[in-house]
Amino acid sequence: MNNFGYTRASDVADAVRQIAADPAAKFIAGGTNLIDLMKENVARPSRLIDITHLPLNKVEETKDGGLRIGALVPNSDLSYHPQIEARYPLLASAILAGASQQLRNMASTGGNLLQRTRCFYFYDTTTPCNKREPGSGCSAIEGINRGHAILGTSKHCIATHPSDMCVALAALEACVLATGKDGERSIKFADFHRLPDDTPNIDTNLRSDEIITAIKLPPKGFAANYSYLKIRDRLSYAFALVSIAVGLDIADGTIKEARLALGGVAHKPWRNHEAEAQLSGAPATRETFMRAAEIELARRGILRTLTQAARGTPQSQADKRIK
Ligand SMILES: Cc1cc2nc3c(=O)[nH]c(=O)nc-3n(C[C@H](O)[C@H](O)[C@H](O)COP(=O)(O)OP(=O)(O)OC[C@H]3O[C@@H](n4cnc5c(N)ncnc54)[C@H](O)[C@@H]3O)c2cc1C
Ligand code: SF4
Repeated sequence: MNNFGYTRASDVADAVRQIAADPAAKFIAGGTNLIDLMKENVARPSRLIDITHLPLNKVEETKDGGLRIGALVPNSDLSYHPQIEARYPLLASAILAGASQQLRNMASTGGNLLQRTRCFYFYDTTTPCNKREPGSGCSAIEGINRGHAILGTSKHCIATHPSDMCVALAALEACVLATGKDGERSIKFADFHRLPDDTPNIDTNLRSDEIITAIKLPPKGFAANYSYLKIRDRLSYAFALVSIAVGLDIADGTIKEARLALGGVAHKPWRNHEAEAQLSGAPATRETFMRAAEIELARRGILRTLTQAARGTPQSQADKRIK
């Protein structure tokens, strides 16, 4: 690990001032990803700017009937928050599918968005990796790439975004609130993470002088018919090979609106607008779900997630049977 400095931000304006003055510095929140990257010598910040004392740890109702989630709300608090459990259970379910209870106690909402890929080569500094060292090459393309991206890849990188929470946020059409030198802006979730193209070293469209202050959820939470399915090597403490977040709005057996996002298959959470269009206006039946699930590699997963959502199956990340 390199030597690094440590300072504390006194408020959001101070955090922005500090990061703008030292582009090699990094914010630290829960530290569950950044410290690992520093120990592996993948991240070498000049300084850690501690933001854990900023007042960004509340879940508040917004004027339009949605919710504003502070960037420092721990993942576990968020998943058990009464408003999230009641109105956005898809989000609660996705969060509980990730990591372990201890990690979720430390991990923050903002940090979860910015966690880096789990590509082994990215962590192995003895191998070429365009994300870690631009221009060095991609070891995964010809190497061990089980669990890498199948959608939106480039010849420079086939890494996936590892977050579970972000797949649900993509399906729910959340917004990311960020503050920089020019004030606060709102970024649609679909525009927050990037595809690798020829700059896989850049994961998101967050500017280097910006801090994430909150996530905004719109009023609609698909609380009656939702499902988050995570397919992985073990039932807990493993990243997704593929995950599927579904929200359905069903009235009289007909799907009025559908949301479907995939995780573990691309450099960003992957909204499947084509499948959503197939589902909208159609009866909530197995035939409809099979037509919508025509993506070869995720077909059975999509079919199962849609079936669980339509049946209103109670969601427990410990019990994956269709009831
Ligand atoms: C063993 C293990 C298993 C895991 N399994 C899963 C899993 O199955 N599913 C899953 O989704 N995740 C999993 N995780 C990842 C975990 O969810 C993330 O590490 C965590 O969410 C990161 O949050 P943090 O607050 O600790 O971020 P930190 O490590 O503090 O920061 C991460 C990055 O975000 C930046 N940052 C943090 N907050 C802000 C902010 N407000 N504004 C701007 N920049 C900011 C930091 O500078 C850093 O670059 C796992 C992690 C570990 C170690
Ligand atoms: S897939 Fe991306 S992160 Fe993995 S080795 Fe290739 S460039 Fe690096």
